[in-house]
Amino acid sequence: MTVTTEYLSDLFIDGEWRAGSAGTTFPVTDPATGETIAQFAIATEADCDAAVAAAEAAFPAWAATAPRVRSEILRAAFDILTAEKEHFAEIMVRENGKSWPDAIAEAGYATEFFRWFAEEAVRIPGDFRLSPGGDKRIVVTRQPIGVSLLITPWNFPAAMATRKLAPALAAGCTTILKPARETPLTAAYVVDVLRRAGVPKGVVNLVTPVPTGPAIAKMMHHPAVRKMSFTGSTEVGRILLHEAADSVVSTSMELGGNAPFLVLPGADLDDAVAGAMVAKMRNGGSACTAANRFYVHASVHDEFVAKLTAELQKVKNGSGLDRENTLGALVSLEERDKVAELVETAVAEGATVALGGTKSTSGAFYPATMLTGVEHGSTINQTEIFGPVTAVVKVDDVDEMVRMANDTIYGLIGYVFGEESLALRTALRIDAGMVGVNKGVLSDPAAPFGGTKQSGLGREGSSEGILEYLEEKYIGMAP
Ligand code: NAD
Repeated sequence: MTVTTEYLSDLFIDGEWRAGSAGTTFPVTDPATGETIAQFAIATEADCDAAVAAAEAAFPAWAATAPRVRSEILRAAFDILTAEKEHFAEIMVRENGKSWPDAIAEAGYATEFFRWFAEEAVRIPGDFRLSPGGDKRIVVTRQPIGVSLLITPWNFPAAMATRKLAPALAAGCTTILKPARETPLTAAYVVDVLRRAGVPKGVVNLVTPVPTGPAIAKMMHHPAVRKMSFTGSTEVGRILLHEAADSVVSTSMELGGNAPFLVLPGADLDDAVAGAMVAKMRNGGSACTAANRFYVHASVHDEFVAKLTAELQKVKNGSGLDRENTLGALVSLEERDKVAELVETAVAEGATVALGGTKSTSGAFYPATMLTGVEHGSTINQTEIFGPVTAVVKVDDVDEMVRMANDTIYGLIGYVFGEESLALRTALRIDAGMVGVNKGVLSDPAAPFGGTKQSGLGREGSSEGILEYLEEKYIGMAP
């Protein structure tokens, strides 16, 4: 296949691609080969100030633009991305290390947010009623909140950006996107698609400050910035919540997960294994939704482990440029080493390696790995693995499985496999924003995505997603 070698690698401010004002760059690396594939512009403080100024200046006109016009621009972005799906996926393969099936799946998922929010832009709800005392008419309208700072992680470089950009733009907000340092090329491409779709200047801006923290803090203290939507780790999320407090900035937080995957007695094990393969292996395990803690009932444990191990053995690990590979590289050598260290610690804490468990010597690869005999509360059980490692805990009792599943500071997602009525009753007991019942992937632009506890605040996607960028205004009128 022909591989792109030219990438957009500048900042996008006030409708223009431009180098950073200091002329400095950082390298973007293909983690499968270690090759530097681009040098991306570093945004200085002055560049970030310019992005905020552009978004502030563009806000009144964009907020006043007819919802139908905003909708049609988003729909045009959907059409462009659909037509360029392979190119879109290829950028992700190169800078993130994804396998081709994961990249093409993300391209499709990311693109759908533009179609979904094109449809939501023209359905922003309001309300009109008479007060119970009959002394006023209560008019409730929703207005765009203002300049929105959107901060995204590297693991889904496209979908995490479109899941924020699409509702923000649909609502009438102007935006500043700050992608992860590992994956700015996908973000730059998406921003350019929006430019080509007709987004006016200043409405979408892209900055990549290095270091990130002080620049983001400064932007969040700017009075025009009224919204910050963050997807990333709980650790950074906590820092940003503190920052947001100073100017009382509205926040949406999509943070870390530690998803339990329960296999109940009587579960159909072929379904459970198929569900486990996607819940664990989608995106090579580098997903906030990845099944992290397998709690398998003793009555089905051995058969489930044998069947899942047999499936994991079929996984082909290698560069996403070879479309036959089903497991790509991790995003960096550091991530590979983090996963390897977690497995070593698990073994030191009593787990057994039934498959895999040895990191590559070249490229950021880690093989599909099966660990059995893992203890609830052990290090690997309490850490977001973010790699292709299945860690199985054997449990004797369903109540105990539920207790263990909820014994975490996270509450993003859980999975329950079993006979439908027991699985549903068990799902209702899992403290998480999302639970899959006999289903290994839940992400859907039409469904509310988000977590409880320290996995986040607010929801993305669905009809709730646009509300995160709107503020209610009550107008009381004489009757
Ligand atoms: P991260 O928290 O390290 O970084 C996320 C983003 O925050 C990046 O753009 C990074 O540059 C920026 N950042 C880092 N320090 C910052 C600071 N002090 N101030 C402002 N911004 C800062 O996360 P990551 O390693 O890129 O992504 C992996 C994490 O993201 C995992 O914990 C995963 O669970 C989580 N995640 C959550 C969801 C969700 O929807 N809940 C989705 C995907 C990933």
